This record gives sequence, C-alpha cells and structure tokens, in this order.
Amino acid sequence: MLAIIIFGTRGVRSTVSEGTFVCPQCISNQQYKHKKVTQFFTLYFIPLIPMGNKGEYVECLGCRNTYITRILQMQPTLDITEKQATSAAVGQPRAQLNTGAVDSTAAIEPEKDKVIKKLLIMMILADGKVENAEIVSFHRIYHESTGQTVRDIYKEMDEVKAENKSPHQYLKEVVHGLNQEGKEAILKASMRIAAADGDIDPSEVRMVENFGKALELKPAEVAAIIEEAKNKQE
Ligand SMILES: [Zn+2]
Repeated sequence: MLAIIIFGTRGVRSTVSEGTFVCPQCISNQQYKHKKVTQFFTLYFIPLIPMGNKGEYVECLGCRNTYITRILQMQPTLDITEKQATSAAVGQPRAQLNTGAVDSTAAIEPEKDKVIKKLLIMMILADGKVENAEIVSFHRIYHESTGQTVRDIYKEMDEVKAENKSPHQYLKEVVHGLNQEGKEAILKASMRIAAADGDIDPSEVRMVENFGKALELKPAEVAAIIEEAKNKQE
C-alpha cells in the first residue's frame, strides 16, 4: 500500500490585544482585534510546528476591514473625534467628522482596498498595453468593490511598474495582513476584471485560481467565487 504523507505550511491567526479605535471606514469608534499570524508547519493539514511571526494587522469588528497596526498609535485623534461626534449630534453636518484629526487615520487605507487596487492594475498591465476600456472598467470595479475612488490611476500604474512584481509574488507578500473577508473581496474583484471584456476564458479562471492559492483560500472557496462570477455573466 502506498502511504502519502501530506505536509505544508499555513498561517494561523491569534489575537494579541483588543480595544477601541477610530476606524477610517466606519468614521467612528469601533471595537478592534489586533491579530498576529504565525506560520505553522502542517502535517495532514494539522498545524504542528510554529515557524515564526508572518505578519499582523488590526481588524475592525464593525466593518471587518483590516489595517496596518500603526493605526493604533494614532489614538490621540480619539478625543477630538469624540468632541466632533458630539457637536455633530447637536445639529452640525456629519461632514464635520471628516475634517481635522480624523484625516490622519483616514489616510490609512483598508488593506484589502490597497491590494485590490494593485492587483487590478497588474491585471490591466499584464498584456503590455493599456486600453481606455480597461481604465473605465478599473474605475467601475474598484469603486463597486471598495466604495473608494482612485484619483490618479496613471501614477498608481507607474508605481506598480516600478515595483515589477508578479501578482502571485505580490499576493504572497500581503496575505498575512488580510482576513477571510478581505481575501474573498480581492478574489471577487479580480474575477470581475477578468469578466469585464465580456467573457471569462479558461486562462483567466486558472489565473484567479492561482490568486486564490497565493491568498491561502481553500479550493472550494475559490471555486464558489469563480462559479458565482460565471453565473452573473450569463
Ligand atoms: Zn470599521
């Protein structure tokens, strides 16, 4: 009988601390969890031996976005925000919340939005030419996926070109700053841009499957997202 030993590695998440912070997406005080990702050597998918810290992030329990941990050092903004929130409550326009101190945390993008932006640009640049229709699709899909807009896509494209990374390589670098929701949102956005030209061909499906692997999603989760996008197409 043939015995197959299955081993590999996997990131395991644990909570380092929790508390409240000002979430730039929710624009309010929210509960957070500061998570650490430890890489484990796995045998038959069971994590056995820790192989070191692979990354960490702060997750908002309100909107489920993840952020770089530096956002927690911006807590002094909390006081001012509370005052603004109070003045907003007594009749001032809500737009007040967007001014002043909140700006410093608002400058921190959710990790998934950052990754979606770069990945979609990499996909546009992949064939060496950039068509107008692709730029239009980018803006539409980026906005649908994140609720955000990109002001200067040409500057972003220059940055991506200068970094010169393959999508797979890039995703492996950022995977440990993301939670499950973020990973799924990224894969859905990449599937949308693949479908933007009117059809989804097998090479595009393989590409998205590879993104799923780099993001450490389970094959069944990846298949469900691809299937959902195909159904929308018909
Ligand atoms: Zn939030």
